[in-house]
Amino acid sequence: MAKLDRVRNIGIVAHIDAGKTTVTERFLFYSGRIHKTGEVHDGEATMDWMPEEQDKGITITAAATTLEWRGHELHLIDTPGHVDFTIEVERSLRVLDGVVVVFCGVGGVEPQSETVWMQAEKFRVPRMAFINKLDRVGADFDAVLEQMRERLGARPVRMQIPIGLEDHHVGVVDLLKLQALTWTRAAEDPPEVGEVPAALREAAEAAREELIEAAADIDDEIAEAYLEGNEIDPAKVKAAIRKGCLENTIVPVFCGTALRNKGIQPLLDGVVDYLPSPLEVRPAVGVKPRTEEREERAPELKAPLSALAFKVQMEQGRKAVYMRIYSGRMKPGDDVLNARLFKKEKLARLFKVHANRRERIQEASVGDIVLAMGLKNTATGDTLCAPDAPILLERIDTYEPVISRAIEAKTLAEKEKLDFALEKIVDEDPTFSVSESEETGQTLVAGMGELHLDIIILRLIREYGVEARLGKPQVVYRETIAEEAEDEYIFERKGEDEALWGQAKVRVRPRERGTGMAFVNELSPPELLVSPAVPEAVMEGLRDAASSGVSAGFPLVDVEVALTNLGLREATTPNPVAYRAAAAEAFRRASQAATPILLEPIMAVEVIVPEESMGEVIGDLNARGGNIEELGFRGGKRVVKAMVPMKEMFGYSNAVRSLTQGRANFTMTFQRFDKTR
Ligand code: GDP
Ligand code: MG
Repeated sequence: MAKLDRVRNIGIVAHIDAGKTTVTERFLFYSGRIHKTGEVHDGEATMDWMPEEQDKGITITAAATTLEWRGHELHLIDTPGHVDFTIEVERSLRVLDGVVVVFCGVGGVEPQSETVWMQAEKFRVPRMAFINKLDRVGADFDAVLEQMRERLGARPVRMQIPIGLEDHHVGVVDLLKLQALTWTRAAEDPPEVGEVPAALREAAEAAREELIEAAADIDDEIAEAYLEGNEIDPAKVKAAIRKGCLENTIVPVFCGTALRNKGIQPLLDGVVDYLPSPLEVRPAVGVKPRTEEREERAPELKAPLSALAFKVQMEQGRKAVYMRIYSGRMKPGDDVLNARLFKKEKLARLFKVHANRRERIQEASVGDIVLAMGLKNTATGDTLCAPDAPILLERIDTYEPVISRAIEAKTLAEKEKLDFALEKIVDEDPTFSVSESEETGQTLVAGMGELHLDIIILRLIREYGVEARLGKPQVVYRETIAEEAEDEYIFERKGEDEALWGQAKVRVRPRERGTGMAFVNELSPPELLVSPAVPEAVMEGLRDAASSGVSAGFPLVDVEVALTNLGLREATTPNPVAYRAAAAEAFRRASQAATPILLEPIMAVEVIVPEESMGEVIGDLNARGGNIEELGFRGGKRVVKAMVPMKEMFGYSNAVRSLTQGRANFTMTFQRFDKTR
């Protein structure tokens, strides 16, 4: 296994169609992991391995794969581009150390690239850019750089400039070495190294000057040498650019065309040279399970094991768990602790993954991204750790499912099969949920958008052989309360041997919109001493009760639930079950008294539209109850930003297409749950 400083955990992100899958394919090809490149438009790309992805020509499942380059081990996570799968992007950003952002040389910085960029910003993940498709008509390298500055607020630093554009694009000038790299031979050959073409010499020198200036801003020694007009060591420049990239102050920029096999080897060099190793990232943070005490794990082999399960997938009825190891090591046969469940699990087998092929390994350690089999209870987002050094790593942000549809099996005989399949998919996908409608008794499935649920229907057929029928899409609501209230309840029941008795007092209080739930135990110590199992069961009961709502069966949000008192009765051993039931009822009564209200999903909608159709788009959004928040310009078009209730947005893609003769582009992301109007 490669030494830790020779490992890179990276992802490739991009706007849909910018060429992420093609770049990934080329990475695999040049590192010798595949011998023939498959093209996306032929439905053959190795990374897009789910059949429905190949049908739609888009990437849905984030698969992890390992490749070697220049003595380094690159763990690559393919991330999806469609908004319905934002959670997958976010989840992979959590476990990655660095990102290659692919931009289309024609389309430039598109809305989706902006979204992903901001997500990477949130996690402070170092980024480099690859400006792809320079062979296409209309390719404009400089325009994309300008857009990166303007729309992303980034400081791009050119490591290369292109030699020729469109049909004339043959290679790049390496600005560090001031050499021309051209690709004119077979796909697998390295570039030919030559002199910078005369016509580009001036431009290359000016661009190199800028590169040195950027390095000088980062490293004083370079600044001095630069001011004195001395020769500057390229190795020093490289080190400074690396530092700037890791600190998130600059973005090294590469370019080429993945489809025509130009610019990929230097891009791989760039990954090794400028993106961080797992040693260069901050320690993983979490808490000690069952307490709020902060706990950190440095990225060291000697430290106790900690790992995050970032993707769970069912394979022929067995659970495959992708994880990122943050500290320590693991072997097949080890017992590891699932910190969420506080339960030991056995690792049966470990694999390194190469798209749809895997290699069995005997050990995995800090910095690795591996696939484990044998973990029966682990779900996406769980922490696995050494049983004698428990840590619960921060959970991945989960996105809220916003639409739901009734689902039923085509035939009654298949109902069981359907229930089984849905249960498995829930384990894999935290943005998908299944429930039963209280009014109709129907099974409801909920997800991130219409496409998300469509894909699940396809998977049910392909992977589980069940055909299902879906009802009309409905939005998913949340509940909250408008006031503060407190109530108590005594639970009493005659048991077989002894009477069950418990008394609890609970207060509920509204929290600010979007802040989620808080559960607090306000018992004073003597009551805690009763038996620690009692308050523990009570808090769990409160969480449970809140998740099924108070008036309409939707989960409660933005409420503080406090346990304020537990009653005691002499001569009985306190029974956790009775106290739990008392607390749940006290909670329900308090919430009923606190004016329960419904909240609906509000979406942030961004439409990019030619000037002449802007009026229609705005009028239509207004008619849908939207709030127009901003009108702007982008690349010669207008941008309309609005907040619109999800329930008004079904079928919007067709509507906007006919309003604008297909000339508009839009994105829609969940913003918040808010009061219904
Ligand atoms: P993704 O959606 O970001 O994964 O993009 P894909 O890799 O699936 O590429 C989208 C389309 O653009 C496919 O038809 C590719 O063949 C094509 N494509 C990718 N890279 C290039 C390139 O460098 N030049 C040209 N002309 N087409 C490309
Ligand atoms: Mg793709």
